Amino acid sequence: MNDPLNGATLMRRIDELARASSSSDVLTRLTLTPAHRLAADMVAGWMREAGMSVRVDRIGNVVGRLEGPGAQDGTLLVGSHIDTVRDAGRFDGNLGVVLGIAAVADLVRRQRALPFAVEVIAFSDEEGVRFPTTLTGSKAIAGTLDPQCLADVDADGVSRAKALSDFGAPDGDAALEARDPARILGYVEAHIEQGPVLEDRGLALGVVTAINGATRAEIQLHGMAGHAGTLPMHMRRDALAAAAEMILAIEARAKGEADLVATVGLLTVPSGAVNVVPGEVRFTLDLRSPVDAARAAALADVEARMRAIAADRNVALSLRITYDAPATPCDAKLQEQLAASMAHCGASPFRLPSGAGHDALAFRGLWPVAMLFVRCAGGISHNSAEYASPQDMEVAARVLTHFIETLATAG
Ligand SMILES: [Zn+2]
Repeated sequence: MNDPLNGATLMRRIDELARASSSSDVLTRLTLTPAHRLAADMVAGWMREAGMSVRVDRIGNVVGRLEGPGAQDGTLLVGSHIDTVRDAGRFDGNLGVVLGIAAVADLVRRQRALPFAVEVIAFSDEEGVRFPTTLTGSKAIAGTLDPQCLADVDADGVSRAKALSDFGAPDGDAALEARDPARILGYVEAHIEQGPVLEDRGLALGVVTAINGATRAEIQLHGMAGHAGTLPMHMRRDALAAAAEMILAIEARAKGEADLVATVGLLTVPSGAVNVVPGEVRFTLDLRSPVDAARAAALADVEARMRAIAADRNVALSLRITYDAPATPCDAKLQEQLAASMAHCGASPFRLPSGAGHDALAFRGLWPVAMLFVRCAGGISHNSAEYASPQDMEVAARVLTHFIETLATAG
């Protein structure tokens, strides 16, 4: 019988799954589309083949379940998402589902009886591309789904409720998918890193310490517009020059602290022209850190610095927080166990935070979460060039399997 953890086998599944796409030339699989349904059917087939019972739940997740002989001891959740962005890579999300199924298949094949149940879940909506809300698949499991999201409409005016029914999700209140935290042992997700750190260090895998918390803000500067030829330099209130100084101050603050990242990704000069001293500028700030206190301190520093620059240049500043989400720390004990499984499988147990959001966010504070990152070429993601090697996937599959198996004895 084939080894389900074999790298070539895993790559075949990744490739097969990538054929479930709304587009013939690139991978696009938005939530609850026919392409998603096709992928869900493939995943369900592999789950059954692995020995799990399978259902599609009321929010469109595919849930495979392996009962343990002592399933009264609770359930371990293993998962990731199978929806994608437009023109996506093959590995984002899909890898975690393929690896979870492979791990269960291997445990069943080797007749390793676990004292708990394992559920592999292919979450339905992590990317948040089709509808304005996101993480609905994992939020339903967490019991935090806002029922209003069923009324969300996509660009064509199709509601999520209609899309769920077209998808073939069973009727009924999605709130019924909520799990009792007392019965959940934890959640573990394997995912490509989507960044360059592991590759840079020559490592196949990493244990995630936390999913970064993030703050986004919108900053507006009001100076005074003026004639570029006639206004002397010392009399100017140039909003864009002030913004430039602020952006460099933001960059310098983030460079000075490990694991803190800060980005100004959007800047507009509303009535900018080649011969006008800029009077008004708007820009955005995106600040992330695995530690909430560090993020808050950085925000306070950056704001103080910007206010000083604005005062110095006689420019008015307003700052509005548009998004704020706390960090999701990964469970210390599960991190230790993942690290031990990595060492067992010959991988160096390096740790790093996750800069991107994942389904695990939805489980913050409900039950322990753990994430295993897999090196991806060039750190490239959300791009058809996204790539993880069969060798790395195989090590990740062996680590995940060992982790599940040893969790059974760790108590
Ligand atoms: Zn993802």
